[in-house]
Amino acid sequence: MNLQSDKDLKIYNTFGISVKADEFLEFESVEELKSALKSIEGKELLILGGGSNILFTQDFKGAVLKNNLRGIQLIDETENHVFIEAAAGENWHQLVLETLQNNWYGLENLSYIPGNVGASPMQNIGAYGVELKDVFHSLNALEIASSEMHIFDAESCKFGYRESVFKRELKNQYVITSVVFKLNKEAKIKTDYGVINDQLKEFGKENPTPADVSRAVIAIRQSKLPEPKEIGNAGSFFKNPIVTIDILMEILQAHPTAPSYPVDGEQVKIPAGWLIEQAGWKGKTIDGKYGVHKNQALVLVNYSNATGNEIYELSTSIINDVNEKFGVKLEREVNIY
Ligand code: FAD
Ligand code: NAP
Repeated sequence: MNLQSDKDLKIYNTFGISVKADEFLEFESVEELKSALKSIEGKELLILGGGSNILFTQDFKGAVLKNNLRGIQLIDETENHVFIEAAAGENWHQLVLETLQNNWYGLENLSYIPGNVGASPMQNIGAYGVELKDVFHSLNALEIASSEMHIFDAESCKFGYRESVFKRELKNQYVITSVVFKLNKEAKIKTDYGVINDQLKEFGKENPTPADVSRAVIAIRQSKLPEPKEIGNAGSFFKNPIVTIDILMEILQAHPTAPSYPVDGEQVKIPAGWLIEQAGWKGKTIDGKYGVHKNQALVLVNYSNATGNEIYELSTSIINDVNEKFGVKLEREVNIY
């Protein structure tokens, strides 16, 4: 473990924002994590994975602990399932590929999401009709206050739409050290999320395998989302708002083609990207430095050396404008520091 001071975090966040951390430490084992926590006791703490769901708006006055815990192993199996434990510092997409290579199924729709395994339960990552909770068995986490390990099952994680207990009641109290997934031995593919079927047809796959679904998802994502290595971004900046049917009806009066997806009998989800596009923000660039992506209005981008505050202020302008035009208050999905 090597404690570094005044560390520039530009390469540690996919927005590419240059801020400094008072202290920076990387840990490779739970023992190293425990001694790191002792050495920085009392200081403000940030556990960092791949930095793909973070916007830094100022220097971090505390210690950043970069999680480098590694290892993927099969820990149990039944007739139909395997239980795979992946350490929190493993790259998410590499885990997806490794499970598919071993004919363990269930993660294919979640292909090509940046970041690490340890952050996946934080916001119950989701894409193309599958959420982490659908393949989750349990997780192991170190309680920061006591340095004791705890096990959380799905119920105690309180997963919701891009939400979990770790973003709310237990925020900043635990370091997730590994996640156990319950995967299928038999393929149960899910292609009903519109564009996947179109892409599979384009590939000429009439009886697709989970690996085909993964390839389709990768192709779709590569065609419409900016690569963080080329253009700084943190994926969807806002959550898709869940609103009452009454609000949807009001929106439909002015915009009869407004898209929506049912959540339950009383609520619907409206794509935030559609609201932002209708409000005129899609593709907008400010001072040539930052703005709203041209293909996906949900994604705010840093073209060159924007500050986190500039991007944060842009997000505030979008929230206010969408609220004024549609009466819907967007919430940020990205974690702001
Ligand atoms: P970080 O950004 O490093 O951390 C995020 C938060 O989790 C921070 O608050 C951090 O302190 C906390 N944290 C991280 N690791 C731990 C740990 N081990 N213990 C405790 N707390 C921890 N998300 C989706 O849900 N679906 C998508 O389809 C999707 N697509 C994306 C596409 C692009 C191009 C980008 C840039 C992002 C996308 N995201 C998506 C968002 C992001 O990839 C995920 O939220 C991812 O899980 C973040 O992982 P990370 O390791 O980068 O987390
Ligand atoms: P899209 O397919 O253009 O669809 C726009 C939105 O409508 C999505 O956000 C999705 O909500 C919703 N939607 C579309 N079809 C749906 C269906 N059949 N049932 C329910 N909801 C539906 O979206 P996209 O931007 O290209 O993203 C594709 C997927 O990748 C989405 O699941 C999205 O969440 C995920 N993604 C997430 C991030 C992130 O950072 N969080 C970034 C990129 C992509 P949901 O978001 O609830 O699925």
